[in-house]
Amino acid sequence: MRCQHLPRWCICDGLRTLECPLAIDVLMHSREAWRPSSTGHLIKRVIPASRQHVYTHGTPLDRAQIARPGKTLWILHPLGEPLPSDQASGDLQILLLDGSWGEAADMKKAVEGWGRRVSLPMTGKSRYWLRAQQGEGQFSTIEALLFVLGSLGLKVEHDALRLQLELHVFAGLSTRGHKTLVADFLADSPLVEAMSDLLRRLQPQSPVEKRALQARLAERLAAGTDVELKRSGVAGGLSGP
Ligand SMILES: [Zn+2]
Repeated sequence: MRCQHLPRWCICDGLRTLECPLAIDVLMHSREAWRPSSTGHLIKRVIPASRQHVYTHGTPLDRAQIARPGKTLWILHPLGEPLPSDQASGDLQILLLDGSWGEAADMKKAVEGWGRRVSLPMTGKSRYWLRAQQGEGQFSTIEALLFVLGSLGLKVEHDALRLQLELHVFAGLSTRGHKTLVADFLADSPLVEAMSDLLRRLQPQSPVEKRALQARLAERLAAGTDVELKRSGVAGGLSGP
């Protein structure tokens, strides 16, 4: 699966897929499935054994298609009980609800009673700078997964996935031409150490490249393919805390 970024900011070279003892399923709202900035797709790209299911409002889901035999199913939701810490991750399946606040509420109803609803404290600032953080404690789906991995003690997997998120955000900010933000973002990023060669290759930009990039962006906007960019406005997407 390619990274979906513009060729100029293609980060496929930096992709490091990983295996994870925890079984991961993402229930993605059908509207989310078309958003280029969705982190549900990124989870699938980095963890090929994870599974993606698309939810369409009004269409009932079949538990047998999603729940994996022999695993204890956990559904991550803010209204869940605290995540138990004594369970071996190899016995677990986590279901992540990928969508806006309202969409997740809708999906929660669709999977009601399927498994144990769990939550965990998510604090700090989101690193997902491609969308404004909706409020304190609200994170992208991939960051929610990072919190789960951290809480289960899967540090190697956590750090590897975090790096891939950082790379994705870096490419997204670069595509939008947010040079200052890119610099700000990198200032706190583990990428600088972990993928310095790739960063060096991507960042130098000649005037010719710059004009070509701007032309491509204009084309994409005109074609209406970059819905996220249009909707939030180039600067507006990052006006949050
Ligand atoms: Zn690529």
